[in-house]
Amino acid sequence: MAWRCSGLSNADLVNRLVQAKLVHTEAVKQAMLAVDRGHFSKYKPYEDAPQTIGYNSTISAPHMHAAALESLSPFLFPGAKVLDVGSGSGYLTACMAEMVGPQGRVVGVEHIPELVVKSEENTKKGHLDFMEEKRLAFYTADGRTGYRQDAPYDCIHVGAAADSMHEELVDQLKAPGRMFIPVDEGLGQAIYVVDKDEHGRVTKKKTMDVWQMRGSIIWLLDSKHQKNIKDDACGNYCRATHSSIVANFHKYLPL
Ligand code: SAH
Repeated sequence: MAWRCSGLSNADLVNRLVQAKLVHTEAVKQAMLAVDRGHFSKYKPYEDAPQTIGYNSTISAPHMHAAALESLSPFLFPGAKVLDVGSGSGYLTACMAEMVGPQGRVVGVEHIPELVVKSEENTKKGHLDFMEEKRLAFYTADGRTGYRQDAPYDCIHVGAAADSMHEELVDQLKAPGRMFIPVDEGLGQAIYVVDKDEHGRVTKKKTMDVWQMRGSIIWLLDSKHQKNIKDDACGNYCRATHSSIVANFHKYLPL
C-alpha cells in the first residue's frame, strides 16, 4: 500500500488516495485537499511514506493519515471536540480542525516543545484562521494522560505506538466516542479502534496491521527518552519491550 499513492502535488496525492479507495468519505477528501501537506513536511511531502521531522520523529505516511481520518470521520462532525496525542508536524491535527469547522475544537498534544512551535508555524502557512479562532491549539505535554482541560472528546487520535491502553485517554472519551491507537506487535504496528457506546460500554477492535521497518516506529514515551534514542537503539528498544507491551495493552480489555 505504501508508496503506491505518491503524487506530484497535494491534489495529485489526494486523488491517488481516492482512486486507491483509501479515501472514500467526501469530508475526508475535502479536508486533505484543504490542508497542504507541503506546509508540514520539508522533505518529499507528496510521497506516500513517512518523512523525518527531527527529534526522532516523523510525519506519518499519507495513507496512514487517510486511515485515521476515515476511521474517525463519524466523530469529526462540525462542532466536535477532538484530541490528537503526539501531534508532531501538526498535519493531521489541521485536517481534523478543517473537518470540525469553526464551532469545533481540536487540541494537539506533543511532548517535544520544538515540534509544538514548528506545528504552529506549519499550520499558520495555510490556516492562520484555525489558530486565531482557537479552533486548533497545540500544547507541550505528556499525551499519555490526555488533556483534561478540554475533555471529554468526541474522538481521540494517538499518533505514536502505545505500550498500554492508557485508561486516562479512554476516560476522556465522550459516550459515544472513538479512539484510534497504534500498538506494536513485533514486525509492525496494529491499529486498534476503541469505541465507547452511548451507555459508556467500551470495546476494542483491531482494524489493520501496518508493516514498518525496524527502528521506524515512534513510541508514546517520555520526551527525554525520545530525544536521546538513536535510530538503531530505538529498534532494539522496541524489540526488547515488545512482549510486555502487547501483554499490557490486552490486560485492560482482552480481545
Ligand atoms: N501524527 C503526527 C506525528 C506522528 S509521530 C504527524 O503525522 O505529524 C508521533 C509523535 O508522538 C512524535 O512527534 C512524538 O514526539 C510524539 N510523542 C511520543 N510520545 C509522546 C508523549 N508521551 N506525549 C506526547 N507526544 C508524544
